[in-house]
Amino acid sequence: MADLPYGICPYDKNHRVLLMRMPGHIVKCSKNYCGPPLAICKYNATHRVLPEEMDNHLETCADQIKFNSYKISESAKNFRKEPPSCLAKDNEPVKEH
Ligand SMILES: [Zn+2]
Ligand SMILES: [Zn+2]
Repeated sequence: MADLPYGICPYDKNHRVLLMRMPGHIVKCSKNYCGPPLAICKYNATHRVLPEEMDNHLETCADQIKFNSYKISESAKNFRKEPPSCLAKDNEPVKEH
């Protein structure tokens, strides 16, 4: 079972948690946590790091790459869906008085 995706709990490095259970675990663990407050990664809510380490984390965060490639493919799709503006004009019904 070595290929199950485990992550390390940001609140206690001794906690190895299944990634799929991480959101629930973090909610529970954050209630017992009494260390310095952690900032939440904007790309993945289960990533919690010290505020001074956030800039460094965002540069290396694996979810930042997913996040950006998702956005790129989404905008590419939207671009293809939009008809050229000249065609759109031709398709408009001409209203006559
Ligand atoms: Zn934990
Ligand atoms: Zn992150």
